[in-house]
Amino acid sequence: MKILIIGGGMGGTILANNLARRLTPELKSGKAKITMLTASEKHMYQPGLLYLAFGRVTPDELYKDQASLLEPGITLFVDPAEEFLLDQNQVKSKSGKTFDYDVLVIATGSRPVPELIPGLAEHGQSFYTEETAIKMFRALQAFQGGRVVIAMGVPHKCPMAPLEITFMLHDYFKDRGIRDKVQLHYTYPIGRVHSLENVAKWAAPEFDRLGITVETLFNLKEVDGNAKLLKSEEGTETPFDLLISVPAHRGMEVLEKNKLGAGGWIPTNRHQLNMEGRKNVFAIGDTTNIPISKAGSTAHFEAEVLGENIAAMIKLGAPVRDYDGKVFCFIEAGKDRATYAMFDYLNPPDPRPPTKAVHWFKTAYNKLYWISARGLL
Ligand SMILES: Cc1cc2nc3c(=O)[nH]c(=O)nc-3n(C[C@H](O)[C@H](O)[C@H](O)COP(=O)(O)OP(=O)(O)OC[C@H]3O[C@@H](n4cnc5c(N)ncnc54)[C@H](O)[C@@H]3O)c2cc1C
Repeated sequence: MKILIIGGGMGGTILANNLARRLTPELKSGKAKITMLTASEKHMYQPGLLYLAFGRVTPDELYKDQASLLEPGITLFVDPAEEFLLDQNQVKSKSGKTFDYDVLVIATGSRPVPELIPGLAEHGQSFYTEETAIKMFRALQAFQGGRVVIAMGVPHKCPMAPLEITFMLHDYFKDRGIRDKVQLHYTYPIGRVHSLENVAKWAAPEFDRLGITVETLFNLKEVDGNAKLLKSEEGTETPFDLLISVPAHRGMEVLEKNKLGAGGWIPTNRHQLNMEGRKNVFAIGDTTNIPISKAGSTAHFEAEVLGENIAAMIKLGAPVRDYDGKVFCFIEAGKDRATYAMFDYLNPPDPRPPTKAVHWFKTAYNKLYWISARGLL
């Protein structure tokens, strides 16, 4: 059986390693083959960008060679997929190679698209790429006081990023001794401070306690850089001196071009993770259209289920497990404290008061990630 994985990020890497371990005899005998196509020879630990924006890590700490993360037996090509010929069970790559498959897994992630909002890329700071996180670090250092507005688009990856960045900004200005010169103003597109109701219930009083003002039902429509004004779809306006944004995301353009899903989101069965209407094509991670958090943990748990199912399809002739919607997200809550949200399709999160212990666990996880990517944690 030829297994072709497109994307060597969190989901694709964990899946490939999981399968390589489950299928060791089949890989040795030639009964199974695992091939990965990816777009970069480097693998980035994306949650580290949050710390890069505050100068707490340097860019080189966020990367490892993709090849070094993969189990022996996985064939890696740094050669992005360009054409998906699903009726022929083939994918063509940028370099012109054709890859046949029996099972295809698409794990190409998502990308921020600030350009959807006029003025946002030019006048806003963000931390969703290495380049923008370094730019934001410099803008923060130069900032001496004024009104900082946090604004976001949907959907976006890392559901907790809007809260975390706000708590971290509070700490950052406090540490610099200028918190009293900074007004932190948090905006959110729906009628509460977070999409997950219990997370919103926990975060709203925290914001209140820290003197962070809140404006809900604010969907950013335009950034007027000259007037230093944000305009919303709802017709409201709010001024800013420094704009920190979590831009809206889309799936990869190549998926849209191949008509695999509007916006680059693949219509995906929420339990079996197959692409709707296709039995041998699967999607995991950010690129699915499943209405749950676009998070590394989602990609991780989906990869584990799919790894078990593909191995079972080879060994037993049928999949054995359903994905239950499990997500686990740490939430940095400022002052070196953190909490977490764990939930699935049936059980909502119930965040506890933040503690230093959870913060240190998250800090340790930032290092342990590389073991996790290899599927060992
Ligand atoms: C600032 C920030 C903070 C975050 N914090 C957290 C956190 O605390 N907790 C958490 O769980 N998640 C967090 N996330 C989200 C997490 O990083 C993503 O949800 C996760 O990486 C998604 O995994 P993925 O495999 O779907 O996509 P990715 O990890 O993005 O991987 C996509 C892969 O596809 C490859 N690719 C792209 N196009 C092609 C192509 N045409 N052909 C072949 N390969 C291609 C890319 O090179 C890449 O290797 C954060 C993200 C950011 C940016």
